[in-house]
Formats: sequence, structure tokens, C-alpha cells
Amino acid sequence: MLMSFNPIAAWLEMKTQLPELAIEGIGIKYIYPVFLVLIVLEYVNAKHLFDLKESWSGFVIGIGATIIRVITNVFEITLYMFLFAWAEPFREQYLGYSTLGFAWYIWLICAIADDHNFYWHHRLAHNVRVLWAAHLPHHSGKMYNLTISIRNGWFITLVKPIYWLWMPLLGFEPIMIATCLIVNAFYQFTLHSQLMPSYGWIENIFNSSYVHVVHHSSNTEYLDRNHGGIFTFWDRLYNTWQKPIKGIVPKFGISHDPGTNNPITHNLFEFQEIWRDVKQAPTFKAKLMYIFGPPGWRHDGTGKTSQQLQEELRASGKFGAPTAVEVEPQAVRA
Ligand SMILES: [Zn+2]
Repeated sequence: MLMSFNPIAAWLEMKTQLPELAIEGIGIKYIYPVFLVLIVLEYVNAKHLFDLKESWSGFVIGIGATIIRVITNVFEITLYMFLFAWAEPFREQYLGYSTLGFAWYIWLICAIADDHNFYWHHRLAHNVRVLWAAHLPHHSGKMYNLTISIRNGWFITLVKPIYWLWMPLLGFEPIMIATCLIVNAFYQFTLHSQLMPSYGWIENIFNSSYVHVVHHSSNTEYLDRNHGGIFTFWDRLYNTWQKPIKGIVPKFGISHDPGTNNPITHNLFEFQEIWRDVKQAPTFKAKLMYIFGPPGWRHDGTGKTSQQLQEELRASGKFGAPTAVEVEPQAVRA
């Protein structure tokens, strides 16, 4: 079956089933112009939240990511279609159905499952160094504004689909999976603006810019927290939740900054650092740790992971102690 599978034919067939779902069509015609208008509106209303050189770099990173994504999406959706078709006889034999169909509750389960996949994809992108290298450009912006939403690493889409593969195997329709992925990505656009209000109690369920600020801050208390996309309850469930702390002023950006706005550097920087460390590593195990271990790990103990930094801060009793300027994260907003 593998030999006879034609990915281009499968992709074209998907397009004929639901042509309006073509990502480039929806994105370029409707969504991206809205994003652009919102970014311009945010800039006009809050110029102090922008550094134009960095914003321009963010645009170039975003355009590169979009081009790569349009190409990889073809293979991603095609792979889902292939797995869906391949596993159909097994589903019929062992589970008693060929497809989970399009009932409203299946859509809901799909959206929740999609965000669960996203949580683990995102969490590992922070805790496995080679994945962090691919995710880093999304975090290396020092100004928190809507350009961060489009500032995605060029290589992250190469590994992201792995977390979704179980869904077509179980019988989720590939078109439904694609829709959930798109909705999730668009929801996340709203998470990167200091002009967005806190949603109050709704943040117990839904992610907001107010709580996502924590995820983009390099303050020790905030490192590797709040990985959820649409929902916040995954972080509570898996112990990665951190509310904004009164008195902690968010330090946006990353602690190990490339020191330039060059978009190519931001995409390659950490991979080069990994390569340098792997070459110098004394043992095979250390080489593997530099690739697959957490960022900050060093074979000679001279580096610290975010978990170690947080444990040290807790032990010192200074966890959550106010930073120099005593204002709430909300208060630093325009
Ligand atoms: Zn992240």
C-alpha cells in the first residue's frame, strides 16, 4: 500500500473535498490581512511597545516560517490522510468503526486533543535543546507585541506533526485535524499583545495574553511555564502553571541572546551552539545530552537548567520577590 500511495493525488483529493480549507487561500486572502491590520493598529496605539528593527526581523522570520509551513503542510495533511486510510481496516476490525465522523462532540474532542498535542509539542520544545533551537526565534523577540505571533522558527514545523500522528490512526478525519490546527494557530495570534485585557476567571480555562506573558518572560520564576495553546488547564494538570506574580516585571526575550536582529541568525544560532558543544563534549553521553538534554545543561556543571535555577531561587527564599520596579505585569501595559 505504501508503494502505491500518491501524496500529490491525495492532497488534490483533499482539496476537492473541502477547497475552502486550503490554508494558503484562507490565510493569504482573509487571515493574514487581518493580522497585518491588527499589528499596524497596535503599533499606532502603542509605539513604545515596538522596536522597528526587531519588528522587521520578526516579519522576515514570519514570512520564512509561512513559506516553509505551506510546503510542510502539504506533506503533513497528506501523511494524516495516508495514516487514516492505512489504519481503517484495523479500526473496523478491532474498534468497530471506520471513522469518528463529524459529530459536534467529535469536533470538541478534536479541539481538546489538538491542544493537548500542542501542549506536549510546546513543552518538549522548551525542554529538549535541539527542539528549543527550532522554537527559539519565537522567544528571542525582546518587545512583546503582535509581531511575536508571526515570529515562528523555520524548522519547528518539521517535527511538530509527530505529536498529531495518533489522531488519524484513531479515526479523526484529516480535514477535522487540519481545521483544529488552524483554529489553534489563529487563537494563539491573540496571545501576544500587551493591549489585550486579562480575561479574569475565564483564564482558568482559556489562555490569554495576560497569562501568556509569563511564558515569554525570562525571569527565573517564569521559565518554562504556561505551555498551553488555547487552554490553560494542561499546565495546571502537568504542573507547569504560573500565574503572573505581583511585583515581578516580565523580562521579555531569552537569557542567551544572539545579539543581532538578523533573522537567519535567530533561526540557526542555537543549532550552531549545540554543534560547538557536541564537538567539545568529552563523552558520547555528554554529546547526546547537548542535543537532547535540557537547555542550560553542561557536562562540567557550569550551566544551569531552568529547573535548577528555580530550585535554587526557591531554596534562597527569594522566589517571587519583587524586581527593581514594583509594578504588576498588567501595569506595565500601555
Ligand atoms: Zn514557547
